[in-house]
Amino acid sequence: VSYDEVDVPRVIREILPIINNEAILHGVVVQYEALYGLPRVVADKELLKQVFLNISKNGIEAMTDGGYLTISERVDIEERLVSIDIHDNGPGIPVYVIDKIFDPFFTTKSEGTGLGLSVCQRIIHDIGGYIRVSSKGFGTTFTVSIPFQ
Ligand code: ADP
Ligand code: MG
Repeated sequence: VSYDEVDVPRVIREILPIINNEAILHGVVVQYEALYGLPRVVADKELLKQVFLNISKNGIEAMTDGGYLTISERVDIEERLVSIDIHDNGPGIPVYVIDKIFDPFFTTKSEGTGLGLSVCQRIIHDIGGYIRVSSKGFGTTFTVSIPFQ
């Protein structure tokens, strides 16, 4: 692990081709709304890439009939947080499942490891941030919030 000042939009731009490749295979269109002038965060760049990739991949895999994966950024000056929203318009996460998705080895996929989100959670907690999920009826948004100095 090597912590450094990281520009979130740059990290996302670097993994966008990988996300796009995965998306094309599932008939999914990726939309990225970059925010200009986002504060830098202290993080391990490679681990941060892993977080955004894992969450994006889950979103794409959830959209079995295609759809849109939207990645957007926000900054909360008062809370001193940079937030990245990753939204899909898939079927959503049932209430009886949502409490378990961050548990290691919890998966609803026949070939899933169930490790993706627990690893993401750990990486973001280690830098003082948190991951929230919102899924009501259909569609899911994962929000990764990371503190800035
Ligand atoms: P895996 O992808 O190997 O199943 P994860 O930890 O990445 O493991 O995800 C755990 C579970 O959370 C998935 O199996 C799935 O049931 C659920 N999940 C995660 N993201 C989404 C999403 N965007 N839409 C619907 N379900 C999701
Ligand atoms: Mg996964």
